[in-house]
Amino acid sequence: MSSHDYEAVIGLEAHVQLGTVTKIFSISSAAFGGEPNRHTDPVCLGLPGALPVLNRRAVDMAVRLGLATGSRIRSRCRFARKHYFYPDLPKGFQISQYDEPLCEGGVVTFRLDGEVKQVRLVRIHMEDDAGKNIHDPSGVSFVDYNRAGVPLCEMVSEPDIRSADEAAEYLRAIRTLVRYLGISDGNMEEGSLRCDANVSIRPRGESKLGTKTELKNINSFKNVRDAIEHEIARQKLLCGRGEAVVQETRLWDPDHGISATMRSKEEAHDYRYFPEPDLPPVVVDETWLAAARAALPELPEARHARFLGLGLSAQDASVLVAERQIGDYFDQALAAARALPKKIANWVINEVLARVADARQLTDEDVPVPPAALAELVDLVEKGTLSGKLGKEVFGRMWQERRRAGDIVAAESVSLVSDSAVIEAACRRVVERSPDEVARFRAGNAKLLGFFVGNVMKETGGKANPKIVNEILRKLLA
Ligand code: ADP
Ligand code: MG
Repeated sequence: MSSHDYEAVIGLEAHVQLGTVTKIFSISSAAFGGEPNRHTDPVCLGLPGALPVLNRRAVDMAVRLGLATGSRIRSRCRFARKHYFYPDLPKGFQISQYDEPLCEGGVVTFRLDGEVKQVRLVRIHMEDDAGKNIHDPSGVSFVDYNRAGVPLCEMVSEPDIRSADEAAEYLRAIRTLVRYLGISDGNMEEGSLRCDANVSIRPRGESKLGTKTELKNINSFKNVRDAIEHEIARQKLLCGRGEAVVQETRLWDPDHGISATMRSKEEAHDYRYFPEPDLPPVVVDETWLAAARAALPELPEARHARFLGLGLSAQDASVLVAERQIGDYFDQALAAARALPKKIANWVINEVLARVADARQLTDEDVPVPPAALAELVDLVEKGTLSGKLGKEVFGRMWQERRRAGDIVAAESVSLVSDSAVIEAACRRVVERSPDEVARFRAGNAKLLGFFVGNVMKETGGKANPKIVNEILRKLLA
C-alpha cells in the first residue's frame, strides 16, 4: 500500500489551566510565574495532615466550559486519586476525576478552509496541576511548586480528527472558547493551554482503530502541527516496511523536529485509581446550572453565523470572531454607525487591528479610537464628506492624537472639495492633456473613466468628492 492509502486518526487531550485567583484545593496564588516556591502551602506541598478544600470558582468555570460545549453535566461528580511517582508531584498522587467526571459528551465546533468541523468530546474532568521540574545545564535539577495545585480542566476528544491542520485548528477553537468564557487566558507559551496528541493510522475505508502512540510535550500551535505530521509520516513508514506501530508514549523534541520513545504505554490500573477520601462528592444543582447558563456570552460559533447573516464574508467573520474583544468592538461600532456592516468590518480589520499588538485590549477604555469614534468617521466617508484616502489619513491622526473625526475635519478643513467649479477646472485640465485617452473613451473604451478619475484625484490631492468628479467627467467626455 502506498502512503496515500492510509488515513490518520487523532484524538487530543487538552489541558486548560483555569484562571482562578487561588489554587483548586488551597489558598495560595494560582498566578503564573513568580519567584519559585512562593505560591505554596501545606496542601499543594502534600504535607502530612493537610486537607484539601475545593475551590467553588474552579468548578463554576468547568461548568461553564461544559455548558459551552454542550456536555452533560453530572449533578453529582467525584474526585479520585491517580498515583504516580515523580518529583513534581509531592503528594504522590494527582487529585483527578476517574469514573465520575464533571462533564461527559459535548462537541467543539470550528471552521477550517470554510468548512464547519465538529470534534466530539468524551469528557471534561477537573484535576490539580503538578509542579515543574527545572533541569539546569550543570546537571542539577530543581523543582518549582508554584504550579502545583493550579486548577485544570482536561478535555478528552473522541478520535475524530483526521489531520495535523485539523488538530491545530481544534486547539485554536478551544483557546478562543476559553477566552470568550473568561475561564483561562489559553496561552500555550505559558502553559495555560497544553495538549497530548494520540495518533494512529489505518487503511482508508477501515473502521477499526489502529494502534496509537501518544505524543507529549507539545507546547505551541506550530508544535502540534509538526509533531502530528511527523508522527503520521513515521507510522506510514513503519507500515510501508511491514513493521508494527508500538503502543507507547513519545516525547516531541521541537528543536530537532523528531520524537523519541519516552515510556511504554501505562494502563489505567497502573495508576491505582480510587475515590479521594478527603473530598465529598461535588453537587451541581439546577440553580447553579441555570445561573451559569444565563451568564454565558455569545459563543464564537453563534457569533460567526450571526456575522455571516450580516453579509460579511466567511474570512472577515473569522477575523472578527477570533477574540471576543474584536467582535465586541465591531458590534459597538456597528450599533453607532449608519454604514453597512461590511464597511465597518473593513475599517476594523484594515485600520484598527493593524494598530494593536494584542486585540484583547481593543475594548479597554484607553483604546485611542473607541468604537463610536470609528463609527463617526466611517459615516463621514460614506456620506462623501471624506474620500476613502482622506478617511484613512484622518483615522491615522485620530489614533495618534486621540481626537474625534468631526473635530479634525472642522478644525482643519480637511474635508473633501465639493466645490463644482474647483473640480470642473481640474477635470478640464486632465481632459485637455489626454487627447488620446479621450479619443479611445469616445470610441467605446468605457474602462478609461477610471484613468480620468484617478488623475483628477491626483490633481486635487485626493480631496475632490468622487461623486462630483464622476458626474463632471461624464459630462465633459460625452
Ligand atoms: P488510553 O486508555 O490510552 O488513555 P483513551 O481511550 O483514554 O486511551 O483515549 C485517550 C485519547 O486517545 C482520546 O483522546 C482518544 O480519542 C484517543 N484515542 C484512543 N484510541 C485512539 C486511536 N486508536 N487513534 C488515535 N487516537 C486514539
Ligand atoms: Mg486515558
